[in-house]
Amino acid sequence: MANSAHDVIILGGGLTGLTLAVALAGAGVEVALVEADDYRRLLSAPYDGRVMAVARASRHLLDAIGAFAGMAAEAEPIRDILVEEGGMPVRVDYESAALDGAPLGWIVETRVIRRALHERLRSLAGLRLCAPARVVEIRRGDGRVTVTLGDGSELRASLLAVCDGRHSRTRERLGIGARVWDYGQTGIVCTLRHEHPHRGVAVERFFPDGPFAVLPMRGRRSSIVWALERARAETVAALAAEDFLAEVADRFGDRLGAVTLEGPRWTYPLVLVWAERYACRRTVLVGDTAHGIHPIAGQGWNLALRDVAALAEIVVERLRVGLDPGAADALSRYEAWRRFDALALVAITDGINRLFANDSGPLRLLRNLGLFAVQHAPPLKRFFMRHAMGLVGELPALMRGGRLPALVP
Ligand SMILES: Cc1cc2nc3c(=O)[nH]c(=O)nc-3n(C[C@H](O)[C@H](O)[C@H](O)COP(=O)(O)OP(=O)(O)OC[C@H]3O[C@@H](n4cnc5c(N)ncnc54)[C@H](O)[C@@H]3O)c2cc1C
Repeated sequence: MANSAHDVIILGGGLTGLTLAVALAGAGVEVALVEADDYRRLLSAPYDGRVMAVARASRHLLDAIGAFAGMAAEAEPIRDILVEEGGMPVRVDYESAALDGAPLGWIVETRVIRRALHERLRSLAGLRLCAPARVVEIRRGDGRVTVTLGDGSELRASLLAVCDGRHSRTRERLGIGARVWDYGQTGIVCTLRHEHPHRGVAVERFFPDGPFAVLPMRGRRSSIVWALERARAETVAALAAEDFLAEVADRFGDRLGAVTLEGPRWTYPLVLVWAERYACRRTVLVGDTAHGIHPIAGQGWNLALRDVAALAEIVVERLRVGLDPGAADALSRYEAWRRFDALALVAITDGINRLFANDSGPLRLLRNLGLFAVQHAPPLKRFFMRHAMGLVGELPALMRGGRLPALVP
């Protein structure tokens, strides 16, 4: 049991909390990271079927904090993205060659990202890792926040960053409300091994009963992320392997040749979570704790990384000139910066899901006209590509390929 003082306490060491800890500690900020789970268990867990589409701007951040090197060997570049409406001849192909030829993003297994971040974290000084640990009390006031852990130890800091996920208990405990909207859909996730190479092409096919994505993985493997109405998803996910693969073929044809399933199928109920505030009294919400979005465009963690980059920039800027990183004006800047960007993405992902879920004739026509227009208007297409790469909007320096200035002790 040891008490300690820090600049920032991070609650929740999932991919968002880990990245924030690495970014801050790497710049010389004194950080305490509290995670409920046991990293020995998390790091030795088998493949859980989850992969992340890491956008190009997110790669900038991961490079800047020294974490991408640890996952590079297992990251599969996305060369092209193909967007199609199932059963229709129109499509949009976003080809990296039409921009600068560099990958639009990378597909990386979630457990590989966690391992790389954790390794980087262990190499950094100025960081106290409390895991597994239970929070029993949070007190805010007197210019600081105090967190008491289950073993009786106390952590003190100027700022608390809450990263404990979309069903955050801490958000609730601090009295910050959140709107939760159940999509009534479940995401099925699994891995396919296939005969033909995928050539780095990610495919998103839209059907009235839900979107179906095929993401290129290392080797002749691809990850399926398939959203369906909940009851149907549970039925489809429980089918015998060959019946399940027949359903997959129904959606995707035989463009990958003969396919087999690798590992189990996983299901994730899809809900939208929108916190009423992102900041209050020495506290900020980061990542899924602030906004849990539909996985339709693979942007949830990419959005979280923009929170991380913005918060790290604000904290380091203030500490460099001797200002309090948890003061009200720092919190307001974070909230104003991040809320607009997140709201835009919530609206886009929600809007796409609704637009394609409707099978009415006029809407189908509208969708097809839209896809046709994007396909044949290169500037519009380039804009959407830059959007998918996370390169649009008021980006923090870390997302633009910049670095954080190190704090001088
Ligand atoms: C099917 C699916 C596919 C997706 N694909 C993509 C994709 O391709 N690209 C992308 O960018 N995003 C994707 N996402 C979104 C992405 O998974 C999330 O945005 C991301 O995992 C959020 O990470 P997080 O660390 O914010 O939250 P979480 O992953 O929920 O982590 C929260 C952490 O906090 C810990 N914790 C909880 N309570 C406490 C407590 N009281 N004290 C301490 N610790 C606590 C938990 O143990 C956990 O480690 C996808 C999501 C789904 C469902």
